[in-house]
This record gives sequence, C-alpha cells and structure tokens, in this order.
Amino acid sequence: MPDVTSQVRARQESGSAGPDGEVATVPAAQPEPAVRAAPGPTPERLARAWARAIAGTSFVSMTPAELRSYLTGLAARLLSAATADTFEASVGFEVGVALVKAHFTQPASLDHTLRVLTEQLSDVGECTRAPALQSALAAGYAHALRERTLAEQEEIRAAAMLARSEAEAARWASEARFQAVFAGAVIGIAIADIEGKIVDVNQTTCDMLGYTVDEFRQLTVDEFIHPEDAPGIWDAYRALTRGEREHFRLEKPYYRKDGQIVWTDLAVSLIRDQDGQPRYVVTMVEDITERHHLQTRLRHQALHDPLTQLPNRTLFFERLGQILDDADDDARVGVCYLDVDGFKMINDTLGHDMGDYLLLAVARQLHSSISGPGQLVARTGGDEFVVLVERSAGPDQLVEIAEAALAAVRAPVQLGGHEITVSASVGVVERAAHTTSATELMKAADTTLHWAKRDGKNRWALFDADRHAREVTKFELSAGLPAALERGEFLVEYQPLVRLEDETVMGVEALVRWRHPKLGLLGPDRFIELSEETGLIVPLGQWVLGEACRQAAAWRQQYPDIDLVTSVNLAVRQVQDPSIVAEVSAILEQTGLDPGSLQLELTESAVMGTSGRPLETLHALARLGVKIAIDDFGTGYSNLAYLRSLPVHSLKLAGSFVAGLRPPDCPDPVDKEIVATLIKLAHTLHLTVTAEGVETREQAARLRTLGCDTAQGWHYAMPGPPEHVLALLESSVCQPSPAI
Ligand code: C2E
Ligand code: CA
Ligand code: CA
Repeated sequence: MPDVTSQVRARQESGSAGPDGEVATVPAAQPEPAVRAAPGPTPERLARAWARAIAGTSFVSMTPAELRSYLTGLAARLLSAATADTFEASVGFEVGVALVKAHFTQPASLDHTLRVLTEQLSDVGECTRAPALQSALAAGYAHALRERTLAEQEEIRAAAMLARSEAEAARWASEARFQAVFAGAVIGIAIADIEGKIVDVNQTTCDMLGYTVDEFRQLTVDEFIHPEDAPGIWDAYRALTRGEREHFRLEKPYYRKDGQIVWTDLAVSLIRDQDGQPRYVVTMVEDITERHHLQTRLRHQALHDPLTQLPNRTLFFERLGQILDDADDDARVGVCYLDVDGFKMINDTLGHDMGDYLLLAVARQLHSSISGPGQLVARTGGDEFVVLVERSAGPDQLVEIAEAALAAVRAPVQLGGHEITVSASVGVVERAAHTTSATELMKAADTTLHWAKRDGKNRWALFDADRHAREVTKFELSAGLPAALERGEFLVEYQPLVRLEDETVMGVEALVRWRHPKLGLLGPDRFIELSEETGLIVPLGQWVLGEACRQAAAWRQQYPDIDLVTSVNLAVRQVQDPSIVAEVSAILEQTGLDPGSLQLELTESAVMGTSGRPLETLHALARLGVKIAIDDFGTGYSNLAYLRSLPVHSLKLAGSFVAGLRPPDCPDPVDKEIVATLIKLAHTLHLTVTAEGVETREQAARLRTLGCDTAQGWHYAMPGPPEHVLALLESSVCQPSPAI
C-alpha cells in the first residue's frame, strides 16, 4: 500500500488538489478572528500566519496542528534570534534547512515564508536583523535542497555504475534496476556518447525541455550551448569526455524547444567501459527555474535600495572591491560622495512621505544625468548617494561628474503642490586604484564631504592629502589635550611688559606652552583654539591662572619693593563660566597675591557687546580689585563709546598696528595716525595703552613719542621661563635685546 505522501503526490500530479491548489492532507488553518489586539509577534502568532502562508505549497503529510506546532518551534527560534543580545544570523540558516527537512521543497514555500517574515518581523529587534535572518534562511533552504538533490543523484549514479559493470552499454536497456530509476526519476537523465550524440533521455528530461525522445536522439550535446553558460563549462565537459575527470556539477540554462529558458542544476558523470575507456556521459538535470528566479529576485532585493531601485551600499562595496582587486598598476578609481543639504529639515517639516518622494526624484535625476560607461550611481544611506567611477581619467573627470551631480540635484522638484529646490554637497576622491582600500577611499570621501559641508554646502570639495594630514594632527592634538593637562605637560612662559618712559619692567604676560612628548614645545597657536572648541580651555585656563599667580606671589615675596603686574589671558568661554569670579578670588586667597597685581586680558569679542551675565562677571572681577585689559585691541568690534561704560583699565594694541610703525625711514602714515588716535582716545577714557609686538628700537621710540605707556615685544625680551624674569628684575631695568 502506497504511503500517504505518494498518494498526495499522485493526487497533486493528476490535478486533484483542493480548490486553492491546497493538498488535502494540509488544509488551511482556521481563519483568525477579524478583530484582534495589536499583534505583538509571539511564536504562536507567527507560526499561525506562517502555516497559513505555506500550507499547500509543498507535498507535506502533516496535519494543520502538527504543522503549526512544527512552525511554532522554528518561529520561537527566529524571534529569539531577532531580539537576542548577541545576534546569530545562523539561526535563519538552520530554519531554512528545517523547512526542507519537513519536505517544504517547492519554491513557493520559501517565497511565502519570506513574505510572512517580512510582515511579521519588521518591527522586531534591530532593523537589520530581519533581513539578515531572511537571507540566511534562503541560503539554508537552498543548501538543504541541494544536499537533497545530491543524495538523489548519487543514487542514480550508483545505478548507472552498476549498469556499466554489466559491461555492455547496450544492456543498459535491459538493466532492470537502472531502467526503474531512469524512468521513474523526478529529475531528468540524459545519456550521450563520447562524440556528444544523445543516446537516451528519460521522460522528465523530455517534459523539461519540450523535445520527444526521438527528437533528442537527433541532437548533439553542443546544440545545448547557451550564451549564459558559466565560463569553462564546455572545457570541463571535454576534459570529462577525454577521461581526465569523472564528474562535475553546475547550474546551467537551457533553451526549451519553444524558446523559453529553463534553469537547471546539472550533475555530469563519465561512464567508462570495462577497459576503463570513456564511453558515455550521464547528465542528471534538475529544473531549478523557479528557485533561480527567486534567488535572482532575492539577490536583486539584497543589492538594491527598495525606494529608488538604485544599487545599495552592499552592491556598491561589492563593485568597488572588485574594481580594486582587478586593478592593474595604472588603473585609477574615483568616487563622488553626495549628501543632500538640509534633508533632515525637509523630512521633519514636510513629512517622511515627501522626504521619500524627494529622494526618489533626486535618485532619478542622478541616474539619468550620470550614466557614462563604468559609472555606477548607488544610494548608500538615507540621503547619501555615491557615484563610483571605474577607470577614472583623473580628478578633472571626477570634478565634472560632481558638477553634473550637483546640477542634477538642483533641478526643481514638484512636491505636494510646491516647487522646491534642494542642493547637495559632494566629497570627491580620485586616486590610483592599487594605492587604496575600499575603506580608505570611503573614509577619505566622507572627510571630503564634510569639508564641502563645512565650506558652506551646495558645492563639491576635492580630497587634499595635506589638508587631511593637518586635520589628523589637529584631531590627535585635540584628543590628547585632557591627558596632557593631567600629566602636567603644560608650562607657562613670561614676557616682560616694559614701561616705555624709563624702560623698567612693570609687569609680565603669562603665555602657555605645551611640552608635547613627540612634537616638542608647542606654542598656543597649535592648541588654544582646539581647547576652546573642546571646552578644555576652562580647566587649562584655570591651571595657567593658578600657576601664574603662584609665580607672581613668589616674585613678590622675593622682591617686595617691585610692583609687578602679572597679566593672564582669559578665553571667552572662561568669562562665560559664572564660577570664574569665585575661582579667581580663591586663587588670590590661596597664593596671597594682591588683586591689584593681577591683570586679566580679555579679547574684544569677550567684552564688547556683552550684556547679562558676562558683563556682571566683568564687574565682579573688577570689584575684586583685579585689572582688566582688552587684548588685541583694534582687531575686532571696537565700540569705544561702549568701552567707556566697562570696568576696563588698559588696552593692548594689536601687533598689526605696531608693525606699521616698523619701517625705519617712513612709517606707514595711516597706521601712525591710527595708533596716535587710539592712544589719545584711550587716555581720554583713562585707560593705559600697551603696544604689542614691538620688535625694533624705532618702533619703541615712535610709540614713546606718541605717548604709549607700555611695550611688549622681542625688542625687549622673548617670552621665557620665570628665571629670565628674575634676572630682569634683579637688573630692574629691561635692556633691549641686542640681537634685534
Ligand atoms: P597674545 O595674548 O596676543 O600674546 C602675544 C603673542 O605675541 C605671544 O604669542 C607672544 O609670544 C607674541 N610676541 C611677543 N613679542 C612679539 C614680537 O615682538 N613680535 C611678534 N611677532 N610676536 C610677539 P604666543 O605666546 O604664541 O601666544 C599666542 C596667543 O595665544 C596669545 O596671543 C594669546 O591669545 C594665546 N594665549 C597664550 N597663552 C594663553 C593662555 O594661557 N590662555 C589663553 N586663553 N590664551 C593664551
Ligand atoms: Ca594676551
Ligand atoms: Ca595680544
């Protein structure tokens, strides 16, 4: 008595399946009630939907309850993989294998399974997990099917070998066991002689390719060459007929007699005669057309962006990897990495649907305007696109493409009744292919894209190795700052402030330096801006202040009769920090320094136009008795009228004005006039004036004539360690440095 499966098969083959193509042994599950609570996916719920979807797709002898319970087990594994702490895509693979094991071997079973999982897993776990599980499942499924076919083919091959051992090929026909397998096999079998003439085919082969046995016998193997045959297949075939190999397997397309294409999985084996001479070639052919199409579709889905249908990030990197792998020494490669400007705002204000629509429009424009040979437009992220240029002709070509891309993005788009225009920024990288890896190339592209954004958007930027190196150093410095402060790598140098009238030292300016373990002594121009950006300037500035005050107190102790002002720079962020007043007062208290011996230098931007808290801070500092000087005066926004109302004691004239007084014969008359006016104005406001950057005797002399109070510069002394100041204090008069 035949088993249930073969009964089912017989009914299915003779068209006796249920009304929905459903097989009697697997009726559909009972329909769900129409009203349900919002379905959080549980194993049971997923299994129910799954069972409904795949019931009847394959010949399976399970009752609906058995099927549901089987699928519940698989569903539980998928759900826990989707939400587990560490993600294992291999669970998908195992579930694919389990489906084949349960005889769900028809492509529709896989197709419907994937569809159900797309619906049910979309909101479970991280968004990348469901697709990863699905593709692992498809891979496991294909693997298990192949294993199964292999086992079947092995059985046939064994039978053919048995026939061979009967010595004579003619006796194949009478070899009962072989005949049975040959005729009854659900896969096609074709036998050809060594010259390629087809000797025999079974009915399955005839059905598959649409020829009768007699028609087949008129054909030779060569007539089945197909343009999409894998390279090398016919070489392998000839090697087999020469007896150089025993068998091979591959996937191959055939034209059916009616012209349609059938995709097959082939196992080709050599049969030798008794003397070991090649005699026949047995080909076992399995029709995998549906699976092939499914796989092609899955692959397309896996490699293309569903919204724009452009190649996605994976395909982009696959292609780039190939180009780099295949590159010869003079091959060049380039990318334009494009990001739509302000896309987030469009999404937030017009909604995600409009955002999607816009991206679609951008994708179309890009695709149609950039389509040269070897050029691939991909969507690599939300609003990011890349043009990959194979065999690039040089940076100029890439820049041209970047401009075309920018123009394409700028084309107006109709969006919800409005015409809107967007712009983009593009990072362009072009280099010799063998000098780069895909990761390096894309990192450079990312950096360059940020340059384009930073330089004002709506433009392209071309990668520049020097700029990049400078930025890397800058970044490394910036990252190293906090540890450097902790390790005590900073130090303070002091530069005298000299009273022009009698050339005595009336004060010093504290200037910070960084003794970098690798780069040596670094001036503040290398790190002050960075520490302002990162906020480290607050603790660093506080450290300088403490250090300078301690030093000032020590000098004071040693030379109680010399009135020395120690001037310390305060960054804008320090002034904005409300605790600065308490800190200054605490430091003064700790060091015992008289507040009048401390001067704080603030830039114009820190004091001018300030209102509210910074202004209060300034007044509070002044109330402590500390002097306030405006640093680099004249380089910023100078509102002299406003200055009047501020508690400021001194102006430091920026070195650029003083530079105009330098030429020995003819000082720049405008600069001279400005300096004269500024000094007068300052004096009217009862402010003292310090000139910075005094490098020559002439400058010093002119400044003295113009009534300037104090000078600072190389003419008198370079910034130096505290001992230098000590030496000057001992002589009490600052000797101009002879060298300058
Ligand atoms: P600044 O406050 O204007 O300091 C004067 C700068 O002029 C110093 O540069 C000094 O070395 C330089 N200099 C002195 N004499 C001459 C000269 O005759 N000719 C020329 N061309 N330059 C001269 P340095 O030490 O490199 O400091 C640069 C800037 O870094 C300072 O400019 C100041 O803005 C900042 N800075 C230095 N130390 C600190 C600090 O502790 N905190 C803060 N916030 N900024 C600091
Ligand atoms: Ca200063
Ligand atoms: Ca200055």
